[in-house]
Amino acid sequence: MNATAPITQDLLTIPRKDAGGGLPDIIGMTRDGLRSALIEAGTPDRMAAMRTSQIWKWVYHKGLTDFGAMTNLARPYREMLAERFTIGRPEIVTRQVSQDGTRKYLLRIAGGHEIETVYIPETDRGTLCVSSQVGCTLTCSFCHTGTQRLVRNLTPSEIVGQVMVARDDLGDWDRDPDEKRLVSNIVLMGMGEPLYNTDAVRDAMLIAMDDEGIALSRRRITLSTSGIVPEIARVGEEINCLLAISFHGTTDEIRDRLVPINKKWNIAALLDACRAYPRASNSERITFEYVMLKDVNDSNADARRLVKLIAGIPAKINLIPFNPWPGAPYERSDPDRIEAFAAIVNKAGYSSPVRRPRGEDIMAACGQLKSATERARRERTAAP
Ligand code: SAH
Ligand code: SF4
Repeated sequence: MNATAPITQDLLTIPRKDAGGGLPDIIGMTRDGLRSALIEAGTPDRMAAMRTSQIWKWVYHKGLTDFGAMTNLARPYREMLAERFTIGRPEIVTRQVSQDGTRKYLLRIAGGHEIETVYIPETDRGTLCVSSQVGCTLTCSFCHTGTQRLVRNLTPSEIVGQVMVARDDLGDWDRDPDEKRLVSNIVLMGMGEPLYNTDAVRDAMLIAMDDEGIALSRRRITLSTSGIVPEIARVGEEINCLLAISFHGTTDEIRDRLVPINKKWNIAALLDACRAYPRASNSERITFEYVMLKDVNDSNADARRLVKLIAGIPAKINLIPFNPWPGAPYERSDPDRIEAFAAIVNKAGYSSPVRRPRGEDIMAACGQLKSATERARRERTAAP
């Protein structure tokens, strides 16, 4: 880390937006859910679908958080909405901006839990890396999040809320059709295993993909899993987004050690689920993520085994140089080793981009996420 790097860390002092006094939050409600809630609140059945569309466009196209400004609704109706619902956001605890433009948000959600969300600007896109759980129950040995004990599933509202917070912060609302969206892609690669929270992730992503919701194409959303095999088919059927697999090992022996869920669903079972993935095609390839760990999984023999294993699957391999964290038991592979590995994969006909670490100076890179409270708690426990 470069100590002179112009990192800005604003400890935001924005007063906490009233959480709505326990009122149901519009953000994260499915279309059907909102429609039923509006009917229950007295909206005639025949009007409820239209009201849902109107409200969705205000909140997801314009970023409105105030029912009073929904000018195509009659004033008494707006007042009724304000009495019965809220339009919430997770609270921003800190926002850090890396020297490479990456932004990391530490957000506080109900119960005082904290989660991290990372925005990664690139020339042709802006990707938001979204969390699906507080912590992770899995214990991949190279992942910082996996060392965090505290776990709870996020609600659809908290998952969509991460996108809302980033768009607020970036000024990404109500853009001209020819203006680039700043959050143009979503990857479910933050904290947690999305397929241990499939229902909430599905509801949130259906909002992200709906034209009257956040309106991102399904091909701009990628869900990454460590390999919860029975849930993979549901991603194709119910969410219909792109799939990424945290592969990382080419024998069960190595993968058991790196991604322990492999003991439950091994490489053969995982690859069967990938072969059956309904959407996999040359234009919608499955991404195999492969973290490069020095002398652990980075040999030429590993590269050759990898391409043999995935033969027949429309795939690309995303090589991720290991991102270190305090106390991590691994080292990053040397650049020439990564290059040699990539060359073998490439020669076999697979694209094998090396993921450039982003936001390392603010611990925002892959696998480095872990909330500050958890860190502080650990430090307290470790103190003599
Ligand atoms: N739980 C899901 C999604 C979150 S992890 C999953 O495991 O797929 C997102 C990606 O970052 C995964 O491929 C994960 O294996 C990788 N990763 C975790 N720790 C890392 C580290 N220290 N360095 C590089 N990549 C890491
Ligand atoms: Fe959980 Fe993914 Fe980290 Fe494994 S790599 S511990 S599944 S967040």
